[in-house]
Amino acid sequence: MATIPNHQQSSTTLLLESAQHTMREATEKLGYPEEMFELLKEPIRLTTIRIPVRMDNGRTKVFTGYRAQHNDAVGPTKGGVRFHPSVTEEEVKSLALWMSLKCGINDLPYGGGKGGIICDPRQMSFGELERLSRGYVRAISQVVGPTKDIPAPDVYTNSQIMAWMMDEYSRIREFDSPGFITGKPVVLGGSQGRETATARGVITCIEEAVRVRNKSLEDARIIIQGFGNAGSYIATFLHNKGAKVIGISDVLGALYDPDGLDIPSLSERRDSFGMVTNQFQHTITNEELMEKECDILIPAAISNQITARNADRIQAKVVVEAANGPTTAQATKILTDNDILLIPDVLASSGGVIVSYFEWVQNNQGYYWPEDEIDEKLHTKMVQSFHKVYKAATRYKTDMRTAAYIAGTRKMAEASRFRGWV
Ligand code: GLU
Repeated sequence: MATIPNHQQSSTTLLLESAQHTMREATEKLGYPEEMFELLKEPIRLTTIRIPVRMDNGRTKVFTGYRAQHNDAVGPTKGGVRFHPSVTEEEVKSLALWMSLKCGINDLPYGGGKGGIICDPRQMSFGELERLSRGYVRAISQVVGPTKDIPAPDVYTNSQIMAWMMDEYSRIREFDSPGFITGKPVVLGGSQGRETATARGVITCIEEAVRVRNKSLEDARIIIQGFGNAGSYIATFLHNKGAKVIGISDVLGALYDPDGLDIPSLSERRDSFGMVTNQFQHTITNEELMEKECDILIPAAISNQITARNADRIQAKVVVEAANGPTTAQATKILTDNDILLIPDVLASSGGVIVSYFEWVQNNQGYYWPEDEIDEKLHTKMVQSFHKVYKAATRYKTDMRTAAYIAGTRKMAEASRFRGWV
């Protein structure tokens, strides 16, 4: 067996190598030949683009962007577009692979895709963001589409950006194309319940995890790293269910109170980038927060937060990954050896793409479902998927991440085989 990638490597290389390490294990456990791993270890297509944007000061700035399409044996590829200064080719490739797994675990008729633009949206005006979003769609319009590859929101992109992208694509194609992209505003064919979907999916995973560990959510003490779209809704839902949220954080720092934080007030005070700790004097660091004693730790921010460096100091009983890639392969092993139940990202954070699928189905059929129906359909799928992965972990005597890769790979591998690719 290959050695587990370690933290000496650069963080994005580590992401892809960690993903490939686990993918190799999964294909081996499923009994596929080496060629299957060769096919699935990287996206089938990576498009790199340069986007010239007229900035407000009259000068042109050229941005680099990507769109990765991992595997389209099952159906069109699907996944978000992130706007972030640290986007890299390797990161987008890993994220596309994980999207394939999310779609596989939840039995959605898609493969995985992902896009990104290297930019800092916090430093850009509304007009500049609109021109960048439209430029991105013009540059990738040949390789995307409602039956080819369907983008969606991700880190620092939102329903407004989806609306601009949808409008640009519809203009290029000269017909209204709501099914080109998901996560749109509801008035443009977006789905009810899409905005809270990732958080709701995480909550269902937590409820099932607590159940299999014979514990109760009311007594649970929770720490959430990240207070963006996912983190803040997760905090609110858990708070409403009677759990005690004792720590939250943003990029600048963390708030911690063993007696429980005032989540409604913090949610109200956060800005649109999830910033809130700058309004407080007594903060601790993100690293300190992660190592505090709690029942459930939810990394809901960025990747590589639990590594071989700090995994041994994590004191939670359950770790639920709401972010993509917060725990490295080495750290996964350490947590599992320490009997910490790890609910991996490709399972826990798949609520978003599940409701994106519902959005696409509604766009295709032109008939829209009410919010309670969406929430119920999402809940049913998440419960099934949780137990599919949990059972695979028992059956293959492995950790939950490898089990999730096994559950997520099977359909895509079979579809690739039937198509005669392997
Ligand atoms: N960006 C989200 C994810 O990483 C959602 C993708 C989608 O809705 O297609 O799962």
